[in-house]
Amino acid sequence: MYAPAGVKTRADIPIPATMKAWVLGDPDQLKLIDKPVPVPHRAEVLVRIDAVAICATDLEIIHYGSPALIQGGLPFNKNFTPGHEYMGTVAALGPGVDEYAVGQRVTVEIHAGCGQCKRCREGMYTACHNYGLNYGDVDKGHRANGFTTDGGFCEYQVNNINTLVAIPDTMSDEEATLVVTAGTAMYGLTELGGLVAGEGVAVLGPGPIGLLGVAVAKALGAAPVILTGTRDNRLQIGRELGADHVVNVRKENAVEAVRRITGGKGVDYVLECSGAADAVNEAGRMVNRGGKICLAAFPHEQVPVDVAYLVRNNIYLYGIRGEGKSATHRAEAFMSQKRFDARRIHTHTFALEDLPTAIRYARERIDDAIKVVVKARGVAAHKVAAE
Ligand SMILES: [Zn+2]
Ligand SMILES: [Zn+2]
Repeated sequence: MYAPAGVKTRADIPIPATMKAWVLGDPDQLKLIDKPVPVPHRAEVLVRIDAVAICATDLEIIHYGSPALIQGGLPFNKNFTPGHEYMGTVAALGPGVDEYAVGQRVTVEIHAGCGQCKRCREGMYTACHNYGLNYGDVDKGHRANGFTTDGGFCEYQVNNINTLVAIPDTMSDEEATLVVTAGTAMYGLTELGGLVAGEGVAVLGPGPIGLLGVAVAKALGAAPVILTGTRDNRLQIGRELGADHVVNVRKENAVEAVRRITGGKGVDYVLECSGAADAVNEAGRMVNRGGKICLAAFPHEQVPVDVAYLVRNNIYLYGIRGEGKSATHRAEAFMSQKRFDARRIHTHTFALEDLPTAIRYARERIDDAIKVVVKARGVAAHKVAAE
């Protein structure tokens, strides 16, 4: 029976003492085990996880460990549960919490900064100076579920109230898992200045963040919005999400295409979501003088950059981490007002028990998978069905 002192629950939302949780063993080794249901403390709630989307970063963590950081090191064999793009129902309130009610549907953002460092005080909690310090005598209370603390590939998780975003009943579980992805795109455009109405924006790379970057830029009034990529089916989804022009870089030089579309002037902003080795150089030649580039993806190797070109043309480069400055709230507002249909990037749903299959779909892009979601209830497990 789950009845921690000072925690408020509701009889019609019963909470078991233990839950099913996936944990990371050695690289690429996930095990489904029983874990105690975690307990929310001050300014925290317990979320019953109803759906969780798989992110490319989860694949990185499960394979390489980084960028997860558990107790100051790699996350292997530490009983760590990955997964960070989840949504659910508030199941219990920590002491003193009245900002949310038990039974309320919420989606989550990832980072709860320490709240006391310089960056947290500026609203840049995804760049918290106490990142990963949440244990032993260096405990600053930082949490980034699925990165530095347990995440969402399980049935329940504890979230700081500042990481919750309320969602309407008109938004499906699957769509709600995409709020944080749209929030990351929103954060990128926020850091670029935010006022993109009437300004040209090029988005490089039609992955989930790039596609929702197109949607958010368009919803903010940017024009033209140009999406570049290598796969026509992804570019077509970009069109449906608001791209005015799409460029298949296998068929046309991306810089020349952007210059052509903008009458030679170039765009004002680039949202770089491809991680391609030459992306910064290409972005530099797509923006006009004084233009701004936001880097939301990165190559695995160090790459040469034509710094002189950027300096001579007063081009600004921004690196972003995650979904700071409450960008998820603005993204959710667009989504609940149906300013774009993020569901276009959700392609598959599996049962939580089928997480390894779901990961394989996401990693190998089986059946044109983009966003693959797993659900703890309401979806029949293939494994069970097959036995
Ligand atoms: Zn993610
Ligand atoms: Zn901080």
